[in-house]
Amino acid sequence: DTNEMEIIFDSCSENEGFARVAVASFMTQLNPTLEEVADVKTAVSEAVTNAVIHGYNQEIHKIYIRCVTAGHALEIEVRDEGKGIENIEEAMQPMFTTRPELDRSGMGFAFMEAFMDELAVESSPGCGTTVRMKK
Ligand code: ATP
Ligand code: MG
Repeated sequence: DTNEMEIIFDSCSENEGFARVAVASFMTQLNPTLEEVADVKTAVSEAVTNAVIHGYNQEIHKIYIRCVTAGHALEIEVRDEGKGIENIEEAMQPMFTTRPELDRSGMGFAFMEAFMDELAVESSPGCGTTVRMKK
């Protein structure tokens, strides 16, 4: 059994809550525990916030989310067509941030890694970033 959804929305910070709830709602068909839902919401929030702040530097462009269920698993892709990441390995280190002046703590990827079962980041500078996660 497989089921898929895609959403496209503007990169304004109001839509962080929308994206989190949309994915959580899609996920209910898997009969997740409350903890699993909370973990996925946190991870989606972090990825969407990154697209808003880092990818698009708070300009309004589109963010793309695709979710696929496969058996009991959920795959989530959060994609932007923003500035991209020069050094992914460095960016994924806990406490690494390029925006300390915005009170960022560099923990977003660490949370995604901790709360999800798999995390993969693909990015090309000038083209954008795709974050793939599984739960
Ligand atoms: P926090 O998430 O704790 O608020 P942060 O966003 O800086 O801080 P991470 O989410 O771990 O920390 O991201 C680390 C760094 O990776 C960012 O500072 C930024 O340089 C880069 N980055 C992350 N996501 C994107 C993205 N979608 N586009 C461009 N750069 C990104
Ligand atoms: Mg972040």
